[in-house]
Amino acid sequence: MSGLVLNNVTKEFGTFTAVNNVELTVPNGSFVCMLGPSGCGKTTLLRMIAGLDLPTNGAINLDGEDITRVPTHKRNLGMVFQSLALFPHLTVGENIAYPLRIRGVAKEDQKKRVDELLSMIHLGGYADRPVSKLSGGQRQRVAIARALAISPKLFLLDEPLSALDAKLREAMQVELRQLQQQLGITTIVVTHDQREAMTMADTVVVMKGGEIRQAASPIEIYRRPADTFVADFIGSTNLLEAEADSTGRVTVLGQPVSGVSLGADMRKATLSIRPEDVHLTAPGDGALSGTVTFVRDLGGTIETFVDIAGRQIVAVSTPRARPEVTVGQPVGVVLLPDVCVVLAK
Ligand code: ATP
Repeated sequence: MSGLVLNNVTKEFGTFTAVNNVELTVPNGSFVCMLGPSGCGKTTLLRMIAGLDLPTNGAINLDGEDITRVPTHKRNLGMVFQSLALFPHLTVGENIAYPLRIRGVAKEDQKKRVDELLSMIHLGGYADRPVSKLSGGQRQRVAIARALAISPKLFLLDEPLSALDAKLREAMQVELRQLQQQLGITTIVVTHDQREAMTMADTVVVMKGGEIRQAASPIEIYRRPADTFVADFIGSTNLLEAEADSTGRVTVLGQPVSGVSLGADMRKATLSIRPEDVHLTAPGDGALSGTVTFVRDLGGTIETFVDIAGRQIVAVSTPRARPEVTVGQPVGVVLLPDVCVVLAK
């Protein structure tokens, strides 16, 4: 099997299990973002892939070879961490050439590769500049170029963009993804920023408590979350309790609704419905009855907050589709079956 394959990878620190039985396949050339709340085990998993930590159990294979115990420097990896760890006393060119120099690559070849990488990261002509004189985004690019200098098989990054301000971070996400696509290099990024993961990844791996809750394409994760944790963690959603009686009739938040069915033999479930999929209408049959409590007009989008039996749900629309509602007005909330995701309780 070509690519990176994690088989039952587990890491225990004393009695604490930081990563539990992780199974994951990363095909060659793909971009994976590992996403999850603080402490869910993302960095520990990345460190095991990098060879910086040894799994307590399980195996890591790269292109069919068991690399579980292969030392880091023999894994042909490029790594970038949040701290970047650039050498402050060296120039941009010297930083990028460093991994080539310690591998004994000839001077002319070093220069050729550095020029190639500098043009790739849009810093042509910066070779002689001290890294201390670069902006945050430029330093980031130099760290990426240095990691790519040896043309690694695997490119691993841990929160690489988190020190940048929001605007620059967004621009760098696009750049990093474009660079990865241009090079076709297998890339794994640890992040806690779901927007970052959605921007860059072919596959988003959502972790919680050391386990993978879902590994799928960004849109699959958004549209078909595997459970209430994933639904709530990725984007915003409304989670509503639903019950079915023995005839299959469904009530949501205690009110009967039409068109929605739970799984076979499922008596209780949680419905996840994205704010942009909530439709407001006049109160009536088949819709949930609620009262508008707040309207937030953000210019590009309008959020309408509706109270249903003490539960607040949010509907988002564009200004053109703005619902004609005011605070205190009774409304109907329509749950369209094709956008309601039924999740086991
Ligand atoms: P963050 O986003 O905050 O960096 P993370 O998802 O990367 O979090 P990890 O750094 O992988 O989380 O840590 C997972 C859990 O393992 C945490 O509870 C952490 O305290 C614990 N842990 C990590 N390294 C060690 C260690 N060397 N010894 C003991 N516990 C550790």
